[in-house]
Amino acid sequence: MVTIVDTVSATPLRPRHPEKVNRPDALSPPKPDWIRVRAPNTRGYADTRRIVKENGLVTVCEEAGCPNIGECWDKKHATFMIMGDTCTRACAFCNVKTGMPGALDVLEPEHVAEATFKLGLAHIVVTSVDRDDLADGGAEHFAQTIRAIRARCPNTTIEVLTPDFLRKEGALEVVVAAKPDVFNHNLETVPSRYLTVRPGARYFHSIRLLQRVKEIDPTIFTKSGIMVGLGEERHEVLQVMDDLRSAEVDFLTIGQYLQPTRKHHAVMRYVPPDEFAGYQKVAYTKGFLMVSASPLTRSSHHAGEDFAKLQAARAALAR
Ligand code: SF4
Repeated sequence: MVTIVDTVSATPLRPRHPEKVNRPDALSPPKPDWIRVRAPNTRGYADTRRIVKENGLVTVCEEAGCPNIGECWDKKHATFMIMGDTCTRACAFCNVKTGMPGALDVLEPEHVAEATFKLGLAHIVVTSVDRDDLADGGAEHFAQTIRAIRARCPNTTIEVLTPDFLRKEGALEVVVAAKPDVFNHNLETVPSRYLTVRPGARYFHSIRLLQRVKEIDPTIFTKSGIMVGLGEERHEVLQVMDDLRSAEVDFLTIGQYLQPTRKHHAVMRYVPPDEFAGYQKVAYTKGFLMVSASPLTRSSHHAGEDFAKLQAARAALAR
């Protein structure tokens, strides 16, 4: 497992990715014209930013440099990242800062609930950094956040996007017992790319995690996603779909990997929109209730609208 221990985090000059600074630059091809995003300069964007800052919250939208931030924040859709802004893993694709995180903020669940209320969200997505340093991987903090949102916003549906809780016995069960409406855990890439792209994780552990959620509580929707453009082959993407369906995962997202800095994994290929459409078609034939596959698909993009579609798809199946 790649766990970065930062003993100098008070130093302002400390690099965001100390494990990557000495790597050679990885050059990606220029972005094609289908990767286009709106500049974040609307009134809705400014309102969302103010509420996030007033509550002292961290968002994955900002930390990961998400290309959809202009669109999502204009609609007041932000994805909160709990348990700090510093991650104990060092994935090759991710822009979140690496190092040793600080202590948990016990008031954070209330602050997330308050921001959810102020943003008037019908559906909220909560994710976190990896907290390999905590005995439960942060599972209880996730559960407290779910309970705080339920208490403050009883009509808001809740989606969690969790780490893999690798080697954290009993952690998953704590989150599932808090009953999120959607349990999302991203595979990120195909198994052959794990050692390079996601070295601290184990592919079959992640599949098993999703399967366990369904075994414990079949009413919870499960969701997972991968990025393409990281050197994977088409047949490997189709295998991932089969593996996820074996675990009874309901919702699949597939989006284009974009390189945050030259020290991150290079974009090996920009997958054209018609290939995404092809993946979407195949995934539906494999039995997913919902599939979102496009260059700018991200696991929390349009999560509220997609949750309504998920519910409708399950209801149609039950008829
Ligand atoms: S897609 Fe998700 S991470 Fe990106 S801006 Fe929208 S809510 Fe935030």
